[in-house]
Amino acid sequence: MPFTPYHFGAGALAKSIAPRHFSFTAFAVSNVLIDVEPLVRMLGLLDDTILHGPTHTFPGAVVIAALTLPAVRLWDRTAAALRLTGLRPPAVATWMVLTSALVGTVSHVILDSWMHADMAEHVARYPGLTKADIPPHQVELLCVELAQYALLIYLARLAWRGAARVITAIRDARSRPPSAKAGVDRTN
Ligand SMILES: [Zn+2]
Repeated sequence: MPFTPYHFGAGALAKSIAPRHFSFTAFAVSNVLIDVEPLVRMLGLLDDTILHGPTHTFPGAVVIAALTLPAVRLWDRTAAALRLTGLRPPAVATWMVLTSALVGTVSHVILDSWMHADMAEHVARYPGLTKADIPPHQVELLCVELAQYALLIYLARLAWRGAARVITAIRDARSRPPSAKAGVDRTN
């Protein structure tokens, strides 16, 4: 089934680990682009003997990751031209769009290979990448777990930042000279 949200668990985890070096937008766009092929086949516009063809291979993943760059830039320019500032993707460097998109497409091919039997021929030479290895519901559970880890890391980072701010405030208050403290007291 194209455009399943489960793939986004891997992106959420990557974003939580390296928030300044990973573009979730590029990851998401690459995951949508790679599933255009199964959608087109499902609609009967291409041979539907298999749904997951050339795009769901590792060379295909590289091509789709490269195509993500113009797609993200086009989206940005269109949103800017229409003055839809809220829909503009965050401005990120080209290398970041490409690496994040590559994480998106490669993880997509790996996860889909565990879900779809029609990818068996493409991934046969890579050990561990066949549908028979893992039941589909376990793949979905794994993706949900990845999203849960992402949430935990995000919350831990938030707590760490909050604790650091409190510690800094306490240190600042302690290092302030007594006269300054008295000055603050007088204003209260
Ligand atoms: Zn797919």
